Amino acid sequence: MTEPAITWLDRVIDKAFQEKVSDIHLEFVEDDPFRLLIRVRRAGDLLEWPGIQGPHARAVVSRIKSLADVGSGNVNKSEEGRYVHRAGAGGIDVNLTPTQYDQAAARLPRFDLRLVVLPTIRGEKYVLRLPSIARTPRLNEIGFSDANLQSLRRLFGYANGLVLFAGPVGAGKTTSMYSALDYLGGKQKAVYSVEDPVERALADVDQIEVKEGAGNTFPSILRSLRRSDLQVLMIGEIRDEETAQSAVEISIAGARVISSLHANDSVAAVEALITLSGAKPQQVMQSLRGVVSQRLVKRVHRACGGRGCEQCRGTGIDGRVPIHEVLTITPEFSQALTQGATRYQLQTLARQQGMQTLRQDAERRLQSGETNPRYVTEALGIE
Ligand SMILES: [Zn+2]
Repeated sequence: MTEPAITWLDRVIDKAFQEKVSDIHLEFVEDDPFRLLIRVRRAGDLLEWPGIQGPHARAVVSRIKSLADVGSGNVNKSEEGRYVHRAGAGGIDVNLTPTQYDQAAARLPRFDLRLVVLPTIRGEKYVLRLPSIARTPRLNEIGFSDANLQSLRRLFGYANGLVLFAGPVGAGKTTSMYSALDYLGGKQKAVYSVEDPVERALADVDQIEVKEGAGNTFPSILRSLRRSDLQVLMIGEIRDEETAQSAVEISIAGARVISSLHANDSVAAVEALITLSGAKPQQVMQSLRGVVSQRLVKRVHRACGGRGCEQCRGTGIDGRVPIHEVLTITPEFSQALTQGATRYQLQTLARQQGMQTLRQDAERRLQSGETNPRYVTEALGIE
């Protein structure tokens, strides 16, 4: 008979996939090593799920750690690993022997989860991060308005240049970049990505994972890639000067580059790129084609009109929808920027040239009844 801890964990992860959970948080109740608490993040909110008690609680944690090959002893620094889950394993007959169970599981589709072990003041905490979706959605499937999609296709129509994705953590930037990479790539092209970490395996892309400890940093990987004959490159995130410079230079040299950056809106992202790269604005503007800013806004559950029902577990919420702002770098914008225009002047110019702001895109979602003003304020703050 298979160990209860294994079947319990497989069921939890299966349920998490079904309910579009993004993260599973596991931690022991303070001073009680035999009570494991579970909270899951769904549509941005943390909800508690029934935990597990007794010796099984410890067995669950041991299994996660050994499968992901992390922290055999007490950790005092955070660690990361990859945890392989077999979709539907929670439904395997529990009366099978462990070997039979493993054989049955091996025939099921595989999903890679990322495990993060965090040392907190109350002990170790474990976070399992689920891949957002099994298949990379196409560019036209991720919720861009028709006008934004058209702008984006124009930006990607150039033979070279940089397109940035901006927004805070958890705004769906990675999903958008994967879709963009899918749009730009193809078997005939040399397509690379440098990511920290690789969140989803992609077909026809050479994905390279950053490993800071092993000296595989964004800058060091980019230094080697520069010498290769690449046509399309995704840089997971620009967060230091050398990476910013590489993104600019590789795109000027003839590749299409996409990357992400933390910034509140598209104009702020342009300024952040210039500051971060330490390069002259003229050089940066030579490389940059445009910026996509985005947020995720909670979607009202249609069936109950957001009042809460059994299906949405009383939350009134049915996942989240993205809102976007696509800035196209025009010669006028470029000139205004290099001549020292203020952020306000640049934003005004961008709007005059047809940019729909995040707030305007949110308006589209409000009019269609997909979301409500409270959720928009939650995502964008008060104007
Ligand atoms: Zn409902």
